[in-house]
Amino acid sequence: MARRKKIYEGKAKILYEGPEPGTIVQYFKDDATAFNAEKKATIEGKGVLNNRLSEFFMTGLTQIGVPNHFIKRLNMREQLVRAAEIIPLEVIVRNFAAGSLSKRLGIPEGEPLPRPIIEFCYKDDALGDPLVAEEHIIAFGWASQQDLDDIVSLALRVNDFMSGLMLGVGIKLVDFKIEIGRVWDNDYQRLLVADEISPDSCRLWDIETGQKLDKDVFRRDLGSLSDAYTEVARRLGVLPSNVTHTTKPTLIN
Ligand code: 5GP
Repeated sequence: MARRKKIYEGKAKILYEGPEPGTIVQYFKDDATAFNAEKKATIEGKGVLNNRLSEFFMTGLTQIGVPNHFIKRLNMREQLVRAAEIIPLEVIVRNFAAGSLSKRLGIPEGEPLPRPIIEFCYKDDALGDPLVAEEHIIAFGWASQQDLDDIVSLALRVNDFMSGLMLGVGIKLVDFKIEIGRVWDNDYQRLLVADEISPDSCRLWDIETGQKLDKDVFRRDLGSLSDAYTEVARRLGVLPSNVTHTTKPTLIN
């Protein structure tokens, strides 16, 4: 079989050329990194869980009419997605103070915010993904004002969807990061949710106990990351109750 052409390798995923023009195969690795890759580990099964969870969230977004890149899952670690030009921004939505917001502004972690706060970071590893203002984004041409309006609207729709979904399984959506892609339909540009939505890019706290069920478990050495992600997947019904991250891969339809 011919080898596939690798387009890009990031910290947690590899992108390969897809079978049709305009498609990409997104492969989820088991690698975990934090603090701009200063901390690294391989977490067995993480890629399988994130592939499944991202499929689950993106499929739900499609069902409520939020455009996203997901086409179909191919196997345990790969999904077919629509090729998109990624806008070089991390779009962060926060419902409760945590992480860098708490650090920057001295607001205790867990404090509810008066309204969802959207922040933008410029995607540049060498610079440590710095926080930027809309002024920078427009002045440097990363996105237009119209794009930003659309991005905010997409981000808030994702927030409402994800918050409700998580509430239903006893989890508080503290914050999350999404990435937005640009696609062209003839001469018309459309924006869609791209990359992944998974516990790697969200803060998820158990509503009753406050237990962290996201990548902070790895960042802050709080226990088993696979156990945390498996718990999220199991609560959402994404994994059958007898499956754990150590279960051997099986073929899916
Ligand atoms: P913070 O700015 O507090 O570090 O992160 C805010 C939210 O965005 C958290 O849910 C965090 O997981 C997510 N996030 C921020 N930067 C990144 C990143 O570079 N990669 C991933 N996967 N998530 C990020």
